Amino acid sequence: MLLASIGGMGSTDHGDALQVLQRVFGYPEFRGDQAAIVEHVIAGGDALVLMPTGGGKSLCYQVPALVRPGTGVVISPLIALMQDQVDALRALGVRAGFLNSSLSWDERRMVEAEFVNGELDLLYLAPERLTSEATLRLLEQGEIALFAIDEAHCVSQWGHDFRPDYLSLTHLHERWPKVPRIALTATATEATRKEILTRLELDEGRQFVSSFDRPNIQYRIVGKKEPKKQLLDLLRGEHQGEAGIVYCLSRSSVEKTAEFLVANGIAALPYHAGLDSAVRQRNQARFLREDGLVMVATIAFGMGIDKPDVRFVAHLDLPKSVEGYYQETGRAGRDGLPSTAWLAYGLQDVVQQRKMIESSEGDLAFRRRSQAHLDAMLALCETVDCRRTRLLEYFGESGVPCGNCDTCLTPPEAWDGTVAAQKVLSTVYRLRKERNQKFGAGQAIDILLGRKTAKVIQFDHDQLSTFGIGEDLNESEWRGVVRQLLAQGLLAVEGEYSTLVLTEASADVLGRKREVKMRKDPTPVRSTTRTASSSSGAAKVKVDLPADAGPLFEALREWRAGQAREQGVPAYVIFHDATLKSIAASRPDSLTALGAVSGVGQAKLTKYGEQILEVVAGGGPAPAAEPAPPAAKPKPKTTSTGGAAWGSSADADEWPEPEEPDEPMDW
Ligand code: ADP
Ligand code: ZN
Repeated sequence: MLLASIGGMGSTDHGDALQVLQRVFGYPEFRGDQAAIVEHVIAGGDALVLMPTGGGKSLCYQVPALVRPGTGVVISPLIALMQDQVDALRALGVRAGFLNSSLSWDERRMVEAEFVNGELDLLYLAPERLTSEATLRLLEQGEIALFAIDEAHCVSQWGHDFRPDYLSLTHLHERWPKVPRIALTATATEATRKEILTRLELDEGRQFVSSFDRPNIQYRIVGKKEPKKQLLDLLRGEHQGEAGIVYCLSRSSVEKTAEFLVANGIAALPYHAGLDSAVRQRNQARFLREDGLVMVATIAFGMGIDKPDVRFVAHLDLPKSVEGYYQETGRAGRDGLPSTAWLAYGLQDVVQQRKMIESSEGDLAFRRRSQAHLDAMLALCETVDCRRTRLLEYFGESGVPCGNCDTCLTPPEAWDGTVAAQKVLSTVYRLRKERNQKFGAGQAIDILLGRKTAKVIQFDHDQLSTFGIGEDLNESEWRGVVRQLLAQGLLAVEGEYSTLVLTEASADVLGRKREVKMRKDPTPVRSTTRTASSSSGAAKVKVDLPADAGPLFEALREWRAGQAREQGVPAYVIFHDATLKSIAASRPDSLTALGAVSGVGQAKLTKYGEQILEVVAGGGPAPAAEPAPPAAKPKPKTTSTGGAAWGSSADADEWPEPEEPDEPMDW
């Protein structure tokens, strides 16, 4: 590589940090804790950095790596993304390289030589490399500025991304006691954080814990009715032509959903672990490189995806834990611009997840842990309080109602569901205890509604004392009641057919010793005034583009797309949307003015400055057939959220297995 060194190798002056930030990255100042972290690591200290996705973790080790003598060694589990990370750094003029299994022998030898000769500012390594003595010996031949352990939660068995290879990272400290280590993660509850500290022997290091809030993300959890149609409404109504991720639980629903979107004119690609790895890689690369693609994926997709302009993350199935949910939704809006996290959730989700845990191979401790994770997720779904506040509480922070989530924008009511709960529970009691029969939610609801279905007649269920006592609620409301009872642990499901059973806590409700609070899902308010702009939370969000800058922004994007294609790199490696928006809004007329725009560093100014000025001078006539510019984007709607019908019977149409096979079993 012939790029000149920018990092000022050999200098350890701390004042260099700000200069590097401005010159290399083109940012005027550090954000939040970045300055303190950078200073601490430059001075040789160990650190654990907890920052939400998009918080700016990379700079926390990249800047010290450029300021300290030697190479910053970055351990990252994301082999597929190393190339892009390195490309992005090289585009800034930083001398970066990586070593992983994708390299040919020659390429590997070249990177190794560069490292040994002190010609690299940053070297990315997969964790499994460090289990090999050969790699460790190689590292001993060069000078190491620092070790950065990215996605540090992978060391935790409590977390959801455990990687056994991460356990070998302990050796780094033993072998290089003087080299500072900085561990970074966006996911860490108290338990995970403790585990990271112990396993990486970071107890002596300093902890930097940022707020986990992502003010630009609007959280919405809606009742699942016709999920695919609801999704389509969301994409068409609010995110036309924008990039986003749709998460599904199963591989088959990934494929069906992607096909459905494509059939409806939305550019969507599938991604799951069952696809051929070449297909997976191609789809991932297209998602990163092209503008406005929708990735429909299982959770196999996404860790470390640092595409900044993902405008929405939609979940068609319930995530297993709040940590997982937060990490997945966190992939939206890394650039700080308004984004949506949307989840559709219904009765069948609860049944399915409970069942999956029950039938899992794990030991009792594992099942308890999974249960606790799920309960926290369900509590988030059923809350009548601000979603953001609940999320932040989960990560040990307090907050005030945010004004930028569905419960803030359209507050749901709480209602006293005690009597309704008693009706359901006593029906289950009579079926199970008195008759020793096993039935699911469907039959219990038919009984409550007094429906003389064939199955009701067949089993004489019209003779039960609870037959027809539930006509005050409709079917979907009853499904909502059952869902909330399951969510609150007042009812459970059992066996292959998800039959309903009572829990220990059920007795308190039946015995009138306990009230049951339930959530009445709001009737959506049709109003255009309910936008993020009227909320306090959204005030912290960067402003979107002024309307008259739209055409220029589109012209800049088009220029960027051409560059990206030519160089074979993702568009954001050239410039981020946020930078192009600033350029479009400020219309710089000189290199000096352009250089002052956040995100325009020295290398990029030299390389692209003249071209950008030309595009700006051209004024960027709006290309006729292009998607609407972001400024014209419809305001986030809160009108399409589901009504009171959470868990209506239609919520089952996505499930890979038969819904509620309401067959009586072994009596
Ligand atoms: P993380 O790794 O924490 O998810 P990144 O390091 O990818 O976050 O940073 C998120 C975005 O914020 C990137 O687009 C990055 O360029 C930008 N960014 C980070 N620090 C700053 C800063 N000090 N000023 C302006 N932009 C920044
Ligand atoms: Zn809120």
